[in-house]
Amino acid sequence: MRIDLHTHSSVSDGTESPAELLATARAAGLDVVALTDHDTTGGWAAAAAARPPGLTVVPGMELSCRWFPSDQPPISVHLLGYLFDPLHPAFGAERARLRDERLARAERIVEALAADGHPVDWADIVAHSAGGVVGRPHIAGALVRGGAVASVGEAFTTLLHHRSPYYASKADTDVREGIALVRAAGGVPVFAHGLATKRGRVVGDDAVAAMAEAGLLGLEVDHPDHSDEERSHLRGLAADLGLIVTGSSDYHGSNKTTPIGACTTDPAQFERLLAAGTGTPVLRD
Ligand code: AMP
Ligand code: ZN
Ligand code: FE
Ligand code: FE
Repeated sequence: MRIDLHTHSSVSDGTESPAELLATARAAGLDVVALTDHDTTGGWAAAAAARPPGLTVVPGMELSCRWFPSDQPPISVHLLGYLFDPLHPAFGAERARLRDERLARAERIVEALAADGHPVDWADIVAHSAGGVVGRPHIAGALVRGGAVASVGEAFTTLLHHRSPYYASKADTDVREGIALVRAAGGVPVFAHGLATKRGRVVGDDAVAAMAEAGLLGLEVDHPDHSDEERSHLRGLAADLGLIVTGSSDYHGSNKTTPIGACTTDPAQFERLLAAGTGTPVLRD
């Protein structure tokens, strides 16, 4: 059994449609794949319609959140949610707020880049995102098309880096509130790439314990952005706190070099996740 619980389609900032993504998952020999676009369930229906026989599809999403330490600025954290009711009103409203927040923030970054002569145009970026939830990868694509950088990866290490003067943050959901919303909608909240120091500041063990107290059910331990040390630390925390352990690729199509299935989830852990999710059914034969 090969299980990948974190992937992005062109409904957010991946490059493949949900149908293409499921075909990629099948061709890579996966048995289970979760679709976890940023702040939207917009790809669920297309994934359900295109599911190839034999492939189990877990409806999911990745919610943009923040942790508020007492002694430093907020830290960006991502919360995976699985098997929740997509029609839960308060949770749906929060996802819509986040998508609006993303649009306003991306436009701020683009205006600042354009004012300094970088080859980006807001209308062009919105057109290229094809209705998907706009993120920095879409701005990176415009910078590649305009010849300012050679690749999306280069854009992320230069003009779009979180310490770049062009970077702008957004008012993401308090992670404890995000956890409560996923649980209220019958879903399973899992802390995504929680110790990925290469992405920026990360939270301490106290925050993970507080999240568990707030209803967190799992930790994404095996992720391409985690070092071996980060993985073993998280594995220990999951054992101490009784949390489900997941592994996944965070596949983004050609926006990243990571292949689908690069990290995977143990089948026994997946069974725990399935047992905890009551908001929407898993899609399988
Ligand atoms: P944003 O959510 O707008 O702040 O953009 C960050 C998102 O871009 C994260 O989901 C990353 O996983 C994704 N991303 C896609 N391609 C890359 C890349 N080459 N380097 C870093 N992050 C990337
Ligand atoms: Zn992404
Ligand atoms: Fe993420
Ligand atoms: Fe992701």
